[in-house]
Amino acid sequence: MHGHPGGVAVPEFDGRFTHPCHFLGRKQTQTIDKSQIRHRIILSLLAPGRVPTAGTIEYDIAMTDTARDTVILGSGCAGLTAAIYAARANLKPLVIEGHEPGGQLSITTLVENFPGWPEGIQGPQLIENMKLQAERFGAEFRMGHLVSADLSKRPFTLQVGSDTIHARTLIIASGASARWLGLPSEQALIGHGVSSCATCDGFFFSGREIAVVGGGDSAMEEALFLTRFATKVTLLHRREQFRASRIMLDRAIAHPKIKFMSNTKVEEVLGVEQKEVSGLRLRDTVTGMESTLPVSGLFLGIGHIPNAKMFAGQLDLDDDGYIKTRDFVFTRVSGAFACGDVQDRRYRQAVTAAGSGCMAALEVEKYLEEHGR
Ligand code: NAP
Repeated sequence: MHGHPGGVAVPEFDGRFTHPCHFLGRKQTQTIDKSQIRHRIILSLLAPGRVPTAGTIEYDIAMTDTARDTVILGSGCAGLTAAIYAARANLKPLVIEGHEPGGQLSITTLVENFPGWPEGIQGPQLIENMKLQAERFGAEFRMGHLVSADLSKRPFTLQVGSDTIHARTLIIASGASARWLGLPSEQALIGHGVSSCATCDGFFFSGREIAVVGGGDSAMEEALFLTRFATKVTLLHRREQFRASRIMLDRAIAHPKIKFMSNTKVEEVLGVEQKEVSGLRLRDTVTGMESTLPVSGLFLGIGHIPNAKMFAGQLDLDDDGYIKTRDFVFTRVSGAFACGDVQDRRYRQAVTAAGSGCMAALEVEKYLEEHGR
């Protein structure tokens, strides 16, 4: 007998190794490659009853040995809630924090509608709290960008930066990023009068005049919602025709506080030096005429882009690129779950994202119980 670094005695290798084959309910002797014996024995000691059997022999032993039980892609509200649940289930989740760590909450200010915070809580603080909670139970975090994923083989293979990570299960919580105009002045004033979330930030514009950009249902919905606070909402759309549904458009047109300006493009958000939006420089797309609109806030309602492109061809995506799920969080690939804004085009709230993150983690736990760790 000799030992391995974990201190557990393992038998000498003699070219034949007998291990209990619990899946088939009987013992089975297999001749295995010398290079595999160590992984096999360690696996059998660590996970009795879950040793690969003759039927699963093509499973990559070396990969399995280092594979994570679960990898969570995204560190917004959905990903962090999944991390809390998975970590509490002792799955030691690895959370890949993407290019927007903390997700959309991390770029908002006061969150007043997340249950449990009667005075509200700052978005970044809420995210930080969730992260600390997940870490407390053993979740690991690493920064990185998913370059590619192979969900066709078990374990899944994820290329994160220059590293290859293997995972028995995957929770996709990569969110959806608000579409921005892309103007430098707009980017500089995010959180200082520029926002992509009326429900999050509308309250701060009580008694002010603001503008909403967009011609779809999101823009109509934002404009209508913002009339609760603002004295006047100017809806700016770059052309004459609207994508919005008739009912939403009619509601917005009929609202006395909403004024429409079509064929209008935002060229610059004013107030960068003062760090506070003071107005917009606009251009008429037909006449080319320039004008200035004094407003205290600019809301973008030009859609969201789900961060799911890297799964095209492997998972089902809808026409707008959202991951299609059934029974809330199941994707087409068994063992791969999706939660939060990457699969939710309807609610898109922090609390609904958290709820679906919880569901995904519970399904992962169930999946690993059924398929082995
Ligand atoms: P959308 O329908 O794609 O509309 C996006 C709007 O933003 C379009 O009018 C587009 O202009 C404009 N836009 C895009 N990029 C722009 C840019 N760089 N500069 C200026 N304008 C730009 O997106 P959505 O409104 O978010 O709706 C997405 C889906 O969700 C739709 O199916 C919608 O029905 C649904 N939704 C439903 C509800 C509801 O029923 N309550 C609420 C929200 C969303 P162009 O038209 O010129 O391309």
